[in-house]
Amino acid sequence: MKIAIIGAGLSGLSCALTLEKYGYQADIFERRAMVGDRFVIAEAMFAMFHTPYDDAVKYLSETHDIHLKPTTNIQKVHIYSENEHSFIDGHLGFTNMRGKHPEAYEKQLAHQLKGEIHFNKNVSYKDISTEYTHVVLATGDVLDTKKFQPYDVAFKASFKGAVIEGDFNQTEVYTFFNHHFAPKGMAYVLPHSDREASFVLVYPQYPENETLDKEELWKKCLAECCRRLDQDFKVTSEYSIKDYRIGKIQTPRIGNTFFVGNCWGLSHLYLVLGNLNR
Ligand SMILES: Cc1cc2nc3c(=O)[nH]c(=O)nc-3n(C[C@H](O)[C@H](O)[C@H](O)COP(=O)(O)OP(=O)(O)OC[C@H]3O[C@@H](n4cnc5c(N)ncnc54)[C@H](O)[C@@H]3O)c2cc1C
Repeated sequence: MKIAIIGAGLSGLSCALTLEKYGYQADIFERRAMVGDRFVIAEAMFAMFHTPYDDAVKYLSETHDIHLKPTTNIQKVHIYSENEHSFIDGHLGFTNMRGKHPEAYEKQLAHQLKGEIHFNKNVSYKDISTEYTHVVLATGDVLDTKKFQPYDVAFKASFKGAVIEGDFNQTEVYTFFNHHFAPKGMAYVLPHSDREASFVLVYPQYPENETLDKEELWKKCLAECCRRLDQDFKVTSEYSIKDYRIGKIQTPRIGNTFFVGNCWGLSHLYLVLGNLNR
């Protein structure tokens, strides 16, 4: 058996680790120069997205021998609407880092890997499929999957995000639902530490949202976040993403070609999250 994995993100690396556990060594191709070579962001592993497993970290550790160290556990989620504030508390899940952060999940996975990753290799399925008996598509891009099978797009989303500096309680997460700046979407704050957090505005690219002034939405959103949390946050870096596809495909395998992670499709629409268990 000769196995290729295209993409060394969360799903490609998890797949490679699982194969190693069963005694198979895959060739992993990554187009970037290193694992996690992109902007820093905090993500959330909400327990409700991983049902029936209420603790995804424990599940991955005990069932798949994949060990992840989250940044912290989430004990409270604040929910702000235009006029109301509410919250839920309990053991709600974890936050974790991605991208260039030293504790990014993709770096943690790469450290557990015995085999090597071939970096700066932007490969196409067509180029490598003749050399391998099995190919795993883990590029994080469902457009690659679309070449093989239909993809049900629930919607495309626009993201604008930033790293902000302020005072945070790491165990508390803030969400904002407000049509004036997040039309049919939301904004959220996920702390990285007690001094730094990811601030993200995400909304679907429905036709009625296309004509909106995105910079204006962002300004309003940041202003509301500062007002609600009663702080003057300093923005240290920004990014934006367009056409992020949310939806799913029909089958995770066609012949000896496998689709994992985003190539398999996102399972939850809320916060566009919940992909780790695929
Ligand atoms: C702003 C934002 C916030 C998010 N927040 C959350 C969250 O809070 N919780 C959550 O569960 N999920 C969240 N997600 C979703 C989560 O990031 C994805 O579900 C997850 O990264 C998918 O993993 P993946 O392995 O499929 O793709 P990725 O992690 O994107 O990895 C794909 C890898 O493939 C490489 N690659 C691509 N094409 C090629 C090629 N042709 N050749 C070689 N290498 C290639 C890329 O460089 C990359 O390293 C968020 C996504 C975004 C954009």
